[in-house]
Amino acid sequence: MLLEKPVPGLKERLAARIASEGPLTVEAYMQACLSDDAHGVYAAQQPIGAAGHFITAPEISQIFGELIGLWAVSVWQRMGEPRPLTVIELGPGRGTLLADAIRAWRVMPRFLEAVWVALVETSPRLTAIQRETLDDVPVPLQWHANLEDVPKGPAVLIANEFIDALPIRQFVRRGDAWRERLVASGDAGGFVIAEGALSEGVEGLLAAHTDRVPEGAIVECRPAMKHLLHAMATRSNEAPLAALIVDYGHDASGFGDTLQAVRQHKYADPLAEPGSADLTAHVDFAELKRLATELGLKTYGPMPQGAFLLRLGLEIRRDRLLAAARPEHREAIASGAARLMDPEQMGVLFKVVAFASPELAPPPPFADPDFPLSSPPSTPSPL
Ligand code: SAH
Repeated sequence: MLLEKPVPGLKERLAARIASEGPLTVEAYMQACLSDDAHGVYAAQQPIGAAGHFITAPEISQIFGELIGLWAVSVWQRMGEPRPLTVIELGPGRGTLLADAIRAWRVMPRFLEAVWVALVETSPRLTAIQRETLDDVPVPLQWHANLEDVPKGPAVLIANEFIDALPIRQFVRRGDAWRERLVASGDAGGFVIAEGALSEGVEGLLAAHTDRVPEGAIVECRPAMKHLLHAMATRSNEAPLAALIVDYGHDASGFGDTLQAVRQHKYADPLAEPGSADLTAHVDFAELKRLATELGLKTYGPMPQGAFLLRLGLEIRRDRLLAAARPEHREAIASGAARLMDPEQMGVLFKVVAFASPELAPPPPFADPDFPLSSPPSTPSPL
């Protein structure tokens, strides 16, 4: 019998890589921790939910996916109801948001006939879970590894907690010059942060920050976000596109180290035990908007998640669910809804921005201050 050789742990392999190639950029380290085939948090594990490392809005309350589903319908109507319409979700996790959105679409048969869904996902493990969750939905589904691979055409794009998982690079100001923060092997074993020379082409990008931040300040950038926005702008040049980005982060570009690790719902050291904790970094919404505008997209927001959901009709939907629920489910419905909008919880740290092709009307609820959805779904659904 042939026994497969066990794959060494990620920590050992990263240490060997550093010994042969030298220290890694924070980007390469984050990429490996999240996407390593054998041990990456997304690629090889199931990180979302009570049994995983972190919980996300669609896993907290079905209302989140339902309201975003209705948002997509409303945007489609404002586009002039093109057929077919692609709803693209970037990083669909366990497929929960889509399952809730598609259930909400049942109130609009015209939309159900027009729509197909593209799931952009790189993790084989999560793809398998998405297939299971969405096994019996009444719309065609396709999986793709990149946004660029999704067939052209009018589209509504959704990304919840996707950008925070895209790897970042970190730079530190030393006098008038900049150094890149790197992950190196420490003398006592394990990994430590070191500083190295800038690679070619980065210096120009950092020059603008030199007068803005003090000595020793850390500035982050996210190459994959730029790449993503290019792909969105290209789509938008070819056919109408509206996109909804929900994530956590800051309104204004700041400085400081925002790389964070969460292991089984608790903050952890990002350098300890790579592959055993989720790694994310704050989204710089100002930069996101600036880049999108530069690429010709119209941008709306950021609006705090709580305000966004309230204006989409969260309380109406919650009350309908409560009225139809069994007594033992009521507490979970009420507390889930509160958690999404409470300023102390996800209501303010999480923010929503929308992008749209310039010829499209502003998407709700950014332009119309009293936009409540006139017909939230009325079919009660099991939790
Ligand atoms: N949107 C989901 C999951 C968020 S976790 C939710 O709200 O529950 C991030 C998701 O993005 C995971 O599904 C992960 O596998 C996927 N992902 C991370 N990096 C990716 C990339 N570069 N391309 C495609 N999917 C990616």
